[in-house]
Parts: sequence; C-alpha cells; structure tokens
Amino acid sequence: MSRIAYVNGRYQSLSAAHVHIEDRGFQFSDGVYEVCLYLNGKALDFHPHMDRLDRSLLELSITPPMGRRPLGRIMDRLVARNRLRHATLYLQVTRGVAKRDHAFPACPPRPTLVMVARRFDPFALLQRQNSGVHIATLPDGRWSRCDIKSVSLLGNVLAKQAAKDAGADEAWMLDSDGLVTEGASTTAWIVQSDGTLRTRQLGNDILPGITRQVIMEIARENDLAIIEEPFTPADAHGAQEAFIASTTAGVMPVIALDGKQIGTGKPGPVSRGLIARHWSHTARETGFHPVQDGLLIL
Ligand code: PLP
Repeated sequence: MSRIAYVNGRYQSLSAAHVHIEDRGFQFSDGVYEVCLYLNGKALDFHPHMDRLDRSLLELSITPPMGRRPLGRIMDRLVARNRLRHATLYLQVTRGVAKRDHAFPACPPRPTLVMVARRFDPFALLQRQNSGVHIATLPDGRWSRCDIKSVSLLGNVLAKQAAKDAGADEAWMLDSDGLVTEGASTTAWIVQSDGTLRTRQLGNDILPGITRQVIMEIARENDLAIIEEPFTPADAHGAQEAFIASTTAGVMPVIALDGKQIGTGKPGPVSRGLIARHWSHTARETGFHPVQDGLLIL
C-alpha cells in the first residue's frame, strides 16, 4: 500500500504530495513542527504537544491553520488511512506561500499544513532502551530561540551528523560555558551520586520537551528529587547514570560519553525504573504496554 500524506486539506499519496517552491517554510524555514507518537492508533500526550504547537505558532505570529479538535481528527485519520497501529506523526505548519521577501507578507497568506505518518516499532525502541546509547559532545551552534520548535534545524542536523561521524548515537551540545544544553533531538539528563535527577532549566536555549515534562511528573509522583540546573560533561562522567529523553526515544539510557563509560557502562536502575514508569504512563494514555503485548521489558 502506498503511503498517504496530508497537505492543505488533501490526503495524497506521499510520492504525489508537494508544497509550493515559494512556501516560506522552504525559503526561510519560517515554520514550526510537532512530532506525536501513536500507539494502538492513539496519540500520546496529545494536549501537551498541541499546547507547545500553539506556543511555537504564537512566538512566530503564524495563525493556527485550524482548531485543536479538527487537527486531532486529521492526525488520527492519517494514521488510520496509512493502516498504522504504531506510528510517528510529523506535523508542520509554515507561514504559507508568498513572494520572496524576508519580512512577513503584509497580507498574511494561508498557513501551509503538512502531515506525514510513519511506522513506529516499539520493540526496536525497547531493544535500544535495553542496550543504551553513546553520546558525543560538541559546541552548540544553534540560534538563540531553541525554545521554539521551529523547522530551522540545521544546527541540530549538523550536531547529529558530527555525533554519528564520531561513532555516537546522539550529540550533547555545549554552551559557551561548557555546560550541556540538550541533545540534537532529545533532552539531556544525569543521575547524581545521591540519586537526584539533573537536567537544564527551561529557557531560550532548549526545547521544552514533552517527555521532560512527563518525567518531571513521574519524579514528583515517586518522590524522586530533580534539580533543574545545567551540568558539564565532567559532571556526567562523575554521575551514577545518564539518559536522554524524547517522544520517539522515550527514556533512553546513556552508557558512554565521548568514548568514556558512564556509571557501570550499562543502563542503571534509576533509568530502568523511569523507563518502566514511562511505559506505564504510555499504557494509561494509549492502552499499549509492551509487557501486555508480549514484548521484552528490561
Ligand atoms: N530537544 C530537541 C532539540 C528536540 O528536537 C526534541 C524532540 O524532537 C527534544 C528535545 C525532545 O522533546 P520531546 O520530548 O517533546 O520529543
């Protein structure tokens, strides 16, 4: 079955789907996006993702293309039309099509709305959560409004590629003081020797991750202490454990940083506990739990 995309009101085969070359998303990366995870055909953390989308649009003065409920219906329909049980759904809104000129068009064009759904394999995710990932550090070369989920991802792309070239799975980007901001597509965490979770405070230099928000709630419910403060790679090397977090990676243990092992070099108990609790959260929202589905759990 050929894959189906959604573009400005139409469900089309992915190969035929297209946007105008004068779309400001293409010309200036003048747009924002969200990625939602679908399990059992249900969106995980739908409202937090939509809250962040609304905020990103507001920050760029782009009019939302439609209300949240019709948007959600289209997202659900796209996943169903692609006959996907588990999927990632990519949603992009740009300022729309206009004659090329840097400033916003005097007469705002209709925003462009694009969605693509892709098969997601929770079993592959669990396998990665069981083995953990490697991180490479490098300077953060992105713009100063990383809190907006903008489609302007060149800095993130270059960071991820540099990490890959260094034999790692993810990058941790460092600010001018040598403190970790975040990953190219994940938030960055350590578990200190006293068991406290530590991650950078929200601000213009990191994306307010939805998984970060959920981890905060899980920590509160389970009396796990969290400090929102940045850390250095040396702090990470001195930590018990480290992990990264995102919608598509969940809670993902970090076993090495710049080629040097973290903790025991294996996913540690705090990360494994958070992974299990995050899957329980996922099960409450979507009805899907890897254990119920007979998949491996840590
Ligand atoms: N930081 C960056 C730069 C990201 O691109 C992402 C996700 O794409 C995240 C953090 C994690 O955010 P979330 O948990 O909402 O997926």
